[in-house]
Amino acid sequence: MSQITTEKYKDEAKRAIKNPVLQDALSNLQERLGKGAVEAYKNLPEGHRLRIEAHDIRMNAIENLDVLLKSLAENVRRNGGHVYFAEDALSAVSHCLEIARKHNVKTAVKGKSMLTEEIGLNRSLEAAGIEVVETDLGEYIVQLAGEHPSHIIAPAIHKTRKEIGKLFSEKLLIHYTDDPPALTRAARKALRDKFLAADMGISGCNLACAETGHITTVSNEGNIRMSTTLPKVHVAFMGMERVVAGLNDYDVLFRLLPRAAAAQNMATYISYIGGPCHKDQVDGPEEFHLIIIDNGRTKILADEEFREILCCIRCAACLNVCPVYRKIGGHSYGYPYCGPVGSVVTPLLVGINRAKDLCLGEMLCGACKEVCPVNIDIPKMLLGLRAKLADGDRKWNVTRASLVEKALYKTWSWLIRNRWTYDLFLRLAYFSQKFLPQKGGMIRRLPPPLHGWTGKRDILPISIETFKQRAKRINLNP
Ligand code: SF4
Repeated sequence: MSQITTEKYKDEAKRAIKNPVLQDALSNLQERLGKGAVEAYKNLPEGHRLRIEAHDIRMNAIENLDVLLKSLAENVRRNGGHVYFAEDALSAVSHCLEIARKHNVKTAVKGKSMLTEEIGLNRSLEAAGIEVVETDLGEYIVQLAGEHPSHIIAPAIHKTRKEIGKLFSEKLLIHYTDDPPALTRAARKALRDKFLAADMGISGCNLACAETGHITTVSNEGNIRMSTTLPKVHVAFMGMERVVAGLNDYDVLFRLLPRAAAAQNMATYISYIGGPCHKDQVDGPEEFHLIIIDNGRTKILADEEFREILCCIRCAACLNVCPVYRKIGGHSYGYPYCGPVGSVVTPLLVGINRAKDLCLGEMLCGACKEVCPVNIDIPKMLLGLRAKLADGDRKWNVTRASLVEKALYKTWSWLIRNRWTYDLFLRLAYFSQKFLPQKGGMIRRLPPPLHGWTGKRDILPISIETFKQRAKRINLNP
């Protein structure tokens, strides 16, 4: 199981904001990837309509998961592969270890998979004496640095070129350079031998096709192809929600995924993997195993309010446009899934109280919904989680975050629905604010529990003139 440090979200976020290197590394994320995705959608002949279609495809798959997973498993087995359904992280990791022992695996090469981060696979394999080498360049960098990914598709986005240059010169014993092509060549050279020596290849799975029994991986580096074809055993990990009905669905989703993820019309490599190497094939593993993982997803599926989050295809577009992610980076979230999608999925997977600050930390600006290739309504689900924190929820085992806050909002709600008392309250507030510290016509500090509002900014005092009076005075009324 991945280490969960969601409780430290606020402290980590504060630390991240003060970190100039991180701020530098994240500074042009929005420009590079965020805006590009929206532009790339505009060039699609179907425009926005394709995102609606993608949503329908994914929702249809989620609502028929039982049938599709059964069909996927049957077809993978028909293709000569093995399928294992893992209820939780422990069961998935144990099964992988069993396969590794059977084949006397000493080294494994791995293509990027956030799911294996979620289940803490590397730690368990390494504890069993197996060397695991990440082969995606970004993952390789964070592995050398002894860190975790900070972005779903750009795991080392928090690092600057200079930092990577220093890391490579220390770990790969090369002369310092911060030239990206030179650094890529150094990583490639170091990884080539690992690919050739590996006994096991491990990959994630972007989507799986129930109709044909193929899993599909998308990459720009070609490392996944080597990880899945060179070693004699290939183990693929897949979240149970990643299945779609047929190849027609791929057509829609794989046109959107590279646009959303990297503002590309098409990914460099899309690999369709359909089991072990057959007699008439030159390349491929002797054995193929697909481990389909639940690990809390069934509970999400059972809840109509949050089921939609299972449509996610982990493109990371919502991270790239999120004003919160762009300031605090991925490590602050304390779990492999970060940004807006992480702020919904992590509380649902690890506990809503435990990860409450993630959903409370988002701004509800709606940028994530606008950019999501499968049109997931993330803001609605963030509000749903906040409502559970406010009211408590037995099904999700949520205790109320704060009774004081609840009482304050109840009072506020009552006030704004009663004109006379609201006016009276404003009058009282107008006179009381005179006792607060002010400078330049602004209030510097509010008393607890409202002090957070003025922690980093001053606020305008309440005016004696109401909105209606002002509108009348400046003749806004028709
Ligand atoms: S929620 Fe949407 S935008 Fe965010 S990672 Fe998932 S599919 Fe991509």
